[in-house]
Amino acid sequence: MTDAAARDNEPKIDAEEILDGILEWVEMETPTYHGDKVNLLADRIQGQWEAQGCGVERIPGRGGFGDHLLARSPDWEEGKPCLLVLSHMDTVHPLGTKDEANPIRREGDSVFGPGIYDMKAGAHLPYYAYRHLKRLGHGTKLPVSFLFVSEEEVGSPTSREVIEREAKKARYVLVTEPARDGGKIVTARKGVGRFEMRITGRPSHSGAQHQEGRSAVKELAHQILEIEGFTDYARGVTTNVGMVKAGTGVNVVPREAYAEIDLRVVSAEDGEEMVAKILNRVPRDPDVTIEITGGMNRPPYERSDAIMALFDKAKICADAAGFELETTPLTGGGSDGNFSAALGVPMPLGELLQDQLRQAMAAGYEDLDWSAVTRIAARAAGLPVG
Ligand SMILES: [Zn+2]
Repeated sequence: MTDAAARDNEPKIDAEEILDGILEWVEMETPTYHGDKVNLLADRIQGQWEAQGCGVERIPGRGGFGDHLLARSPDWEEGKPCLLVLSHMDTVHPLGTKDEANPIRREGDSVFGPGIYDMKAGAHLPYYAYRHLKRLGHGTKLPVSFLFVSEEEVGSPTSREVIEREAKKARYVLVTEPARDGGKIVTARKGVGRFEMRITGRPSHSGAQHQEGRSAVKELAHQILEIEGFTDYARGVTTNVGMVKAGTGVNVVPREAYAEIDLRVVSAEDGEEMVAKILNRVPRDPDVTIEITGGMNRPPYERSDAIMALFDKAKICADAAGFELETTPLTGGGSDGNFSAALGVPMPLGELLQDQLRQAMAAGYEDLDWSAVTRIAARAAGLPVG
């Protein structure tokens, strides 16, 4: 048989096969707080990896969250350098999204469904890639650990320790989060802080005893303006008071007010400074008390020399495959990559493989997640995509 004929007989990367695999995972809706639903997907993923000859460790979920899965290639050994591929199984979309808000459907080259963009498609592609390598009779250059966590969308409260432990063992970490506009990969991310603020004033009737009251809402209004005033786009610092709750009636001076605050920073130093500023709230009204809790929930993932060295290598590989690899300036969204990058493990190869393969050609807008089928396949095959 000629070489060409032999190649003709090789299994091919098949867009429809990839899509079927992705959609099977999308069909299984996995909102973070439904641990039982996430576990159904975990069952499926565990079975699929075991069928590829990989050992799968199942780490029981805590606090109502689903289990985490750690699949390892058969050549993985403790203490040997390896690659870590990091994905999450949960999505932000409530149960039933596929029945109403965003039915699973194909429109031309786009496929819609809850969580297909973030990140069922990305989580599935490494599985397809590994299976494809196996059926071609190839292995991977480095042993691989594939970690699937159950609660990334709420800040990985139970998986963080697992992520950090496994990232320390890895030479590279590939995170299967989406690429950005035009397929640009992510080589740095802002750190994320979260805070809860409770303000307690003194209630009174707004008609009969207005002067006796101390309004928690009025204090909240001052605090919101102060906290939002910390935003400094030039420094890459943003604050957002994204949720507020207060009041019991229109004729009652409100006793309580509550707010949730989101912070984004570029550097660890900025994080420390901003956390101190936000925690150190002094009420304008001395008769009102403020209780505020929180802090950084993901450290910034800074663009180190090691990351850029990897990006440069990845760019050469991409050039050879006929497409230009670009990086984003800086993304405000945090991911589990922040944990591994903070440990000094280079990331962008993952962004290359992951984001290029799976999401270079996808976009997500709230519940209108979509992935472009033929482009995914082209990327997966290392082909130029117009
Ligand atoms: Zn994600």
